[in-house]
Amino acid sequence: MSRQKVSFFWFRRDLRWEDNTALWHALQSEFRVIPLFIFDTAILNELPQNDARVTFIYQTLQNLHQQLLPFQSSILIQKGTVLEVWNSLLEEFDIQGLFFNKDYEPFALERDSAVLKLFSEKGIPVESYKDHVIFEENDIVKSDGLPYTVYTPYKNKWLTEFELQKNKLQPLPPISFDNFYKNSFEFPSLESIGFTKSTIQVQKPNLSNITYYHQTRDFPALDTTSYLSPHLRFGTVSICKLALWAVQKNVTFLSELIWREFFIQILFHFPNSVHQNFKSAYDGIQWRNNESEFKQWCQGNTGYPLVDAGMRQLNQTGYMHNRVRMVVASFLCKHLLINWQWGEAYFAEKLLDFELASNVGNWQWAAGTGCDAAPYFRVFNPEIQQQKFDPKGVYIRKWIPEFDLGYAAPMVAHAFARDRAIATYKAGIILK
Ligand code: FAD
Repeated sequence: MSRQKVSFFWFRRDLRWEDNTALWHALQSEFRVIPLFIFDTAILNELPQNDARVTFIYQTLQNLHQQLLPFQSSILIQKGTVLEVWNSLLEEFDIQGLFFNKDYEPFALERDSAVLKLFSEKGIPVESYKDHVIFEENDIVKSDGLPYTVYTPYKNKWLTEFELQKNKLQPLPPISFDNFYKNSFEFPSLESIGFTKSTIQVQKPNLSNITYYHQTRDFPALDTTSYLSPHLRFGTVSICKLALWAVQKNVTFLSELIWREFFIQILFHFPNSVHQNFKSAYDGIQWRNNESEFKQWCQGNTGYPLVDAGMRQLNQTGYMHNRVRMVVASFLCKHLLINWQWGEAYFAEKLLDFELASNVGNWQWAAGTGCDAAPYFRVFNPEIQQQKFDPKGVYIRKWIPEFDLGYAAPMVAHAFARDRAIATYKAGIILK
């Protein structure tokens, strides 16, 4: 039997039908399109069985799959290493083209270049598109062609370019579901992929409070941020649509979306920042790295209510409010003098919105080792942060129900920890 001529669209961090760039182009090609998702064992093998992100990906794909069924089409789900999967699909189908949206993480770039090599050896065209960001790679660089490492000038250039290109940056027309390959691929169970359903669920985005975002975003008890982060991470919303909406709605909110792109371009240009201080001048810091203190921090038992509430929110929901993320990160690096990489790894394990670029970028920012970071001598006082941003203790009582029964003493006194942090940083800075 002759193999069917088809094109493939490979879903990765773009789990939606609407305004999906590579998918839209795939459907313009002359061949019917098979939408594919690969549960990549190179990643899955590192995750706990009930990983909440896997549940979210699975449920999202299931939903997309259901929407295709009335058109006698379906999503093909595969599990394995990416090259194994592609090798076997190349045997099974007469693939005429592969379409995917770009992913800028170091691991993804390596994976995609191996796939590109495989396809080019077979003479099959591969088309990759910008979709995860408004501006990528070298779209926003300094006049000398080098990447920006400071946020504000990056943001200004981003806004100028956005204004110039706004008319081109329109969402794509709706797709035709008739152009997919007609076949009902069996949708596997989550268990057959090796996972179980998590009790932690991703929240729906909430855009109802964005008008007042600049006034309310720092107060965790108000709960007025957008909850978009996992949706941007997995592409269940289109950044193009969102940015065009945000520019009309609230500039402070748009600035946050620009922070996301800032860190994505930093990671693209400086992939070593995943494992190294962005500023090598800080390589001499003598971290204390005390394991039992790290455990207290992870469990939310530091005796500082705001820190503990944040860590408990993270452990129970896979989410933490941004202001509180800044406070807990500063506490780990400065008060406990634990290397930011430990905190980054813990967040990576727990956060539903874990995004390598934002996580590394923000952790290095909090540690003072990153690009455009907070100066090392600025040490957040967790009690003052609590008075300012949770003055009535609504947020802390939500996550620490025993708070009013007499709360544990702080594991380290603020004034002592602050002086120790500043002295340790000062002694560790390598002057060039
Ligand atoms: P909103 O306040 O509604 O913001 C809207 C969107 O803007 C967010 O969804 C996000 O995409 C982006 N954004 C907002 N703040 C930042 C920021 N500081 N840096 C980059 N993008 C931002 N965000 C992640 O998406 N993944 C991470 O792994 C991550 N790790 C973090 C680690 C630390 C130590 C800190 C301090 C922050 C981290 N952030 C991370 C950034 C920020 O805390 C979250 O994006 C935000 O809290 C998500 O909630 P929201 O969608 O309601 O945010």
